[in-house]
Amino acid sequence: NTFAEIDLGDLLNQNIRRCKYVKPTPIQRHAIPIALSGRDLMACAQTGSGKTAAFCFPIISGIMREQYVQRPRVARTVYPLALILSPTRELSCQIHDEAKKFSYQTGVKVVVAYGGAPINQQLRELERGVDILVATPGRLVDLLERARLSLQMIRYLALDEADRMLDMGFEPQIRKIVEQMDMPNRGVRQTMLFSATFPREIQVVYNCSIRLASDFLS
Ligand code: AMP
Repeated sequence: NTFAEIDLGDLLNQNIRRCKYVKPTPIQRHAIPIALSGRDLMACAQTGSGKTAAFCFPIISGIMREQYVQRPRVARTVYPLALILSPTRELSCQIHDEAKKFSYQTGVKVVVAYGGAPINQQLRELERGVDILVATPGRLVDLLERARLSLQMIRYLALDEADRMLDMGFEPQIRKIVEQMDMPNRGVRQTMLFSATFPREIQVVYNCSIRLASDFLS
């Protein structure tokens, strides 16, 4: 019933304490151990449930072990290890702010990219190095089409507010993104899907990104 009992490592635990989180919320208590075990996960989660930490902690903990893996060296192309997709600029910025606090002094680099803002500044930010990319689907496709970003090394995919991304019409973008990720590394990628509702389209659209149909939480 404390974060220290979950095996997240000292550095991450220190950051959790600094954020004044004392006890895991129900979704964190259920989802984090499943995610740490490497399994895919689908979870029913509302805003305010603490879902951001539920997917950020396992991702940061995993990346701290993997950030030194060799990444391809292709001029002006960046290779993040984790992708967090969310429907809006506001939500992406919120996730980015939290993820940065959680990864303080871990060496894990978090970058955010969203539409409606100049892309060049985001590109420069990406070029300085990125382990975790938080992005909205439209801007992500834009970056992929400019060949400035590759999803070839993605080990962790988190889909936040998956139902809202479909409601907002992002299905074609999500299919494109998942397609790019599926080719080289389907076997090693871990997917965490968070949604307030589970209409049928969620299974159809996102099923391709989930290897094992997993645990539903409420
Ligand atoms: P979220 O559902 O991820 O948007 O989180 C809602 C709010 O709860 C945010 O302000 C978080 O910083 C906060 N929060 C998340 N997990 C915890 C926790 N275990 N203890 C205290 N506050 C938390």
